[in-house]
Amino acid sequence: MANTIFDTDLDRNAANFVALSPISFLVRSARVWPGRTAVVHGARRFTYAMMLERCRRFAAALAARGIGRGDTVAVLAPNTPAMLEAHYAIPMAGGVICAINTRLDAATVAFILDHSEARALLVDQELAPLAAAALALARNKPLVIDIADEAAPPNPPIGAIEYEALLASGDPAHPMHLPDDEWQAISLGYTSGTTGDPKGVVCHHRGAHLNAVANVLGLGLTPESVYLWTLPMFHCNGWTYTWGVTLAGGTHVCLRRVDPALIFALIEQEAVTHLCAAPVVMTMLIHAPADVRRRPPRKVRIATGGAAPPTAVIGGMEALGFEVMHLYGLTEVYGPATFCAWQPTVAQMSTEMRARFTSRQGVPSHMLEDATVMDADGHSVPADATTMGELMLRGNTVMKGYLKNPEATRKAFAGGWFHTGDLGVLHPDGYIEIRDRSKDIIISGGENISSLEIEQVLFRHPAIMEAAVVAQPDARWGEVPHAFVTAKPGHEESLTPDDVIAFCRQHLAGYKVPKHITFGALPKTSTGKIQKFELRRRVAG
Ligand code: ADP
Repeated sequence: MANTIFDTDLDRNAANFVALSPISFLVRSARVWPGRTAVVHGARRFTYAMMLERCRRFAAALAARGIGRGDTVAVLAPNTPAMLEAHYAIPMAGGVICAINTRLDAATVAFILDHSEARALLVDQELAPLAAAALALARNKPLVIDIADEAAPPNPPIGAIEYEALLASGDPAHPMHLPDDEWQAISLGYTSGTTGDPKGVVCHHRGAHLNAVANVLGLGLTPESVYLWTLPMFHCNGWTYTWGVTLAGGTHVCLRRVDPALIFALIEQEAVTHLCAAPVVMTMLIHAPADVRRRPPRKVRIATGGAAPPTAVIGGMEALGFEVMHLYGLTEVYGPATFCAWQPTVAQMSTEMRARFTSRQGVPSHMLEDATVMDADGHSVPADATTMGELMLRGNTVMKGYLKNPEATRKAFAGGWFHTGDLGVLHPDGYIEIRDRSKDIIISGGENISSLEIEQVLFRHPAIMEAAVVAQPDARWGEVPHAFVTAKPGHEESLTPDDVIAFCRQHLAGYKVPKHITFGALPKTSTGKIQKFELRRRVAG
């Protein structure tokens, strides 16, 4: 094809084309705000200048140990400065960060160390016993780096070197590796693997950069923002806020464990403005004992996602003085991919209406090209809030693919869309609402029943704190809904199955009313999701 006049002598060069990478955010923030507090961890505080220097030392120390382009460096740590720094230093060395879910069992951690071919493993002192057990099982023997922390239980070190000593050994003037190709891998995140071995999701510098920008815009972060790390950084790299907060020049407030007393105290002490959390964390905050629950001194914006937030929980957080934003996403799309974007009418809505509006998963985030709901033939379903289909995503913030799994990658991208496996509807205004994961839908007497719809009703019962509904095999109907319910403190004795069923009858069509009710605590994943597979196992009969 003939070139146009705009193609001749107008090639890309170093002056006008730079690979997108979130590493650039730290370099800029250290330049613009060298003295601003970048990280708070208990009594420790680092400025942006210090954070950049520490990351450069860390990267240099990895390079000195032969770790470079394309090498995986795994991290097993709660939300501490080292975990945050790893998000910059490992890519600065050319490596790929693999942040491992800290609540996995040793066998799964061993699987990840082998599958990812990790060259090094950073281990927080608290997690040394888990790491030691995993290393004993793994074939791969990475370099182990201990992260000591006074706030951690006093477990003995298991590695070759301690983190601060490693930093001290690194040259802060060592050249940083900025990727020449933005398609280069930056992170590897394993899915929960409820249906077999976990899949390794490979993300690139470009997508991480773009999704961080989208999240800064979505949550409204500024240099004055103070972000509390309630969301695990191992979960989709903290939904890319590990990079986003730095881009905004805000302050990262680390948090070793999700404890309502600590969260409310830090919100006050550090003047926190933003945080992210799964809906179960919001439930914990709402039901925290009265002596730890405090109204934030100023409005705190909380982004929630990872599971559908019940409207009652959104309303409860508003009443506590929080402003709730809703995000939806998956590991495969760098965390958040859709936002329930604000509309001018939202402010005038009643709390109840606003909570209903906010409970929808929304529209594509700023950097996602498209999101829609499709039928089995690959056509968008009508925007009637009723016809269900599979939620599909496409754009620059979709993973490269699954590590060493071309078949799963091909399947996930069939037809030029990423298939989420989530079922939803399109509202007339174009907003998406998830009705279920495809594997969670209940099919009773040939009718589809959304487990989420039943859960929304249960959450509105004044004596119910949490609820999850799964399909129970049934000889007559095929499947029937079984509700697992946790009563609010003080109602454990008085709440009966008949109460719950009567309440559901008032608010749901008869065939959707749960046929079985079980009371008790709900099993949860480390990211705060209710383990429906475990509940299904209990009712499998
Ligand atoms: P895992 O598979 O381990 O749960 P992910 O974090 O990737 O790991 O989970 C993504 C899934 O979580 C989505 O496919 C969806 O089912 C669920 N999810 C995430 N955000 C929301 C949300 N806002 N509303 C409903 N479901 C959500």
